[in-house]
Amino acid sequence: MLTESHFYFNKAADVLGLSKKIREILLTPLRSIKAELTIESETGELLHYIGYRVQHNNARGPMKGGLRFHPSVDEDHATALANLMTWKTAVVDVPFGGAKGGINCDPNSMSEKDLYMLTRRFVEQMKDVIGPTTDIPAPDVNTNARIMGWIMDEYSKYEGFSPAIVTGKPIHLFGSEGREEATGRGVMYVLAEALKEKSWRFPDMLVAVQGFGNVGSNAARLIAEQGAKIVAVADHTGGISNSNGLDIPALIQWVKEHGGVKGFPEGEAFNGLDIITWDVDVLIPAALEDAINQENVDGIKAKIIVEGANGPTSPEANEILTEKGVLIIPDILANAGGVTVSYFEWAQNIQQFRWDLDRVNKELSKVMHKAYKAVRQVASDKNIDMRTAAFVLAIQRVGAAALARVSIKSEIPF
Ligand code: GLU
Repeated sequence: MLTESHFYFNKAADVLGLSKKIREILLTPLRSIKAELTIESETGELLHYIGYRVQHNNARGPMKGGLRFHPSVDEDHATALANLMTWKTAVVDVPFGGAKGGINCDPNSMSEKDLYMLTRRFVEQMKDVIGPTTDIPAPDVNTNARIMGWIMDEYSKYEGFSPAIVTGKPIHLFGSEGREEATGRGVMYVLAEALKEKSWRFPDMLVAVQGFGNVGSNAARLIAEQGAKIVAVADHTGGISNSNGLDIPALIQWVKEHGGVKGFPEGEAFNGLDIITWDVDVLIPAALEDAINQENVDGIKAKIIVEGANGPTSPEANEILTEKGVLIIPDILANAGGVTVSYFEWAQNIQQFRWDLDRVNKELSKVMHKAYKAVRQVASDKNIDMRTAAFVLAIQRVGAAALARVSIKSEIPF
C-alpha cells in the first residue's frame, strides 16, 4: 500500500520535475505515533491492541483524517492513507493537512462495551498529539458518529469542552447536518461532472457499486435519485443484482436489519467478487484497497470508475485502464466530500454556529464542482490523466504553502 501511494505521487512529481530530495521531504510524515492499548474485557480477559496515528503534513493547516478500526491497520497502512489525506485536502482546497490512524481491531467481533473502552484508551494515549488546531480525527472504515462522540467526550475530560477535536460527530453532539452522506454525495457530484463532459445522462447509466457501507450506500442512493439504474451491489456478504435497477432505499433497510446485502429478496444473488467486471457504464469501488487489480482488470467493462474508497485501484491496473481510455475519477478527488463537510463541521464548532442542510449541500456542491474543474484543467493543460493531474495540483498547492512559510529559494516551479 505504501509503495502504491508513492507510485502515483512519483508520476506527478515526474511531471513537475521534482528532485529526489524534495520528493523525500514531501513524502516523509511529520510524526508517527504508535500506542499500546490494553483493556480488560467484559469477560475479564486482557485484550491487547495497537493504535496508530500518522501525521503526514501540516503546511496547509491542521492535519486531518479518519480513524480506521480494522485488523489490517499498521504503520505502513496508516502512513499511505495519511499521505493521501494531504493530497486530498489540497485538491478540494480545504485548509487542512493530512493524517490517518486507527486500531488493529475487528469491531464486528467485539462487544460494544469493549469497543467503548478501547476508543477511550486510544484517546488517552493520543491526547497530547491531537487537538482542534493540530490534528482532527474523523470516521473511516468501521468507525462512525457514535465512536466520534466518545472521542470528543474523552478528549474534553482532559482539555475542557472541545467539539472541534473530532468531526463526523452525532448531530446532537455538535456534528454537522449532511456529514454522514457527504462522501457519497461528493461521489454523485463528480460523476455528474464527468457525465456532462461526455454528454451522457444519469437516466441512461447502468451502475455497479462495490461496498455498501456509508460511502457505497449513500452514493448508490443519491445516484439512483438522479435516475441512474444501480444494477449490482456487492459487500462482504455477497452480491445482489437486478437488471431493472435495485430498490436502493429498500436495500439500505435490508442491510440495516440483516448486516449485509445477502438474501435481499428483490434481486438475484451472485459471487460478490464479480462486481468489478459487471457489464455497466459506471463502476464505483467503495470498499477497501486494491479491489481493481491485475487479476480482474482485463474484464472491466465500465467506461467511468469513481473511486469511493481510498486506493481501490492497484498501480498496474491503473496503467492498463488509463491506456484503454477508461475515465478514472481518483480517490483524492472523488471521495473528498467527506473531509469537505468535516471542514464545515469544524468551522461550525469553532464559531459555535450551525448551518442548515441546504447550506451544507450547496457549499459541498460548489467545492466538488470547482475541484473537478481544476483537476480537469490541469489534465488537459498537461495532457495527463485525472489522477496524475489531481496529484500535480495537490503537490503544487502543498509545495507553495510550505515554501511561503520559510525563507528559502526553491528550485521547484510551484
Ligand atoms: N476518512 C475520510 C477520508 O478518507 C474522512 C476524513 C475526514 O473527514 O477527516 O477522507
